[in-house]
Amino acid sequence: EPVLSVQDVSYWYGEKRALDDVSFDVYPGKVTALLGPNGAGKSTLFSLITRLFDAPTGRIEIDGRSAAEQGFKALGPLGVVFQQPTLDLDLTVKQNLRYFASLRGLKRKEADERMNRALDALDMKERITEKVRSLNGGHRRRVEIARALLHSPKLLLLDEPTIGLDDPTRAAIVRHIHALASTDNIGVLWATHLFDEIKPEDDLLVLDRGRIVARGEAKTVVAETG
Ligand code: ADP
Ligand code: ADP
Repeated sequence: EPVLSVQDVSYWYGEKRALDDVSFDVYPGKVTALLGPNGAGKSTLFSLITRLFDAPTGRIEIDGRSAAEQGFKALGPLGVVFQQPTLDLDLTVKQNLRYFASLRGLKRKEADERMNRALDALDMKERITEKVRSLNGGHRRRVEIARALLHSPKLLLLDEPTIGLDDPTRAAIVRHIHALASTDNIGVLWATHLFDEIKPEDDLLVLDRGRIVARGEAKTVVAETG
């Protein structure tokens, strides 16, 4: 069963329709790539899933329950990496992650265990005592991903997580996220406009002007549509 189910969701900004009857599912252990040019509606969709605002039509379920039913607890099964940085530059990696863990109500011991596990999975453990200000963009992005993983979410939303990074760094992040999805059975929804970040076995959704215009296993979609 899907960890995220989006059914018949439309959204308007005034007269402007940003999403037009969008439906799709995200499954545990799978990376679902949401590919679309600027203006396709990716940010609007993420805002609805994270309940920054509510969808006037349709239904969004996370882990089998509607976002409205979950209320603020919807953050429980959900981890989000926003485009805007959330880390405090003057704190170390560890101080940042402990701070976010405390906001989640995690005890120190549990927080440190999860922090170590997430940083290990992202190849960042040796940087735990460094100030975030001293890290490069790719390492900062990995700490953002670790932050989103602290409470062991079932669904991870990544809004263009590699934007502004060089090719080798992007490739490393793509590799780490795919490994995490399968080892921890996390469903990942990955918004991108870069085709090379999508693996053949990923689920692919192509969004264009608010509509899903192609979907399926990435290698099949590519074979059918070029
Ligand atoms: P993406 O994230 O894929 O670039 P968005 O969700 O930001 O797409 O935008 C989808 C459409 O909605 C675009 O046509 C955009 O111009 C429009 N839009 C986004 N935000 C607003 C807003 N606050 N007011 C009016 N139109 C908006
Ligand atoms: P406290 O836990 O009392 O705040 P510190 O955070 O200063 O103590 O940690 C003391 C030492 O232990 C530091 O050198 C730090 O690198 C190491 N340390 C503490 N917690 C961790 C952790 N979760 N992972 C790695 N090293 C840690």
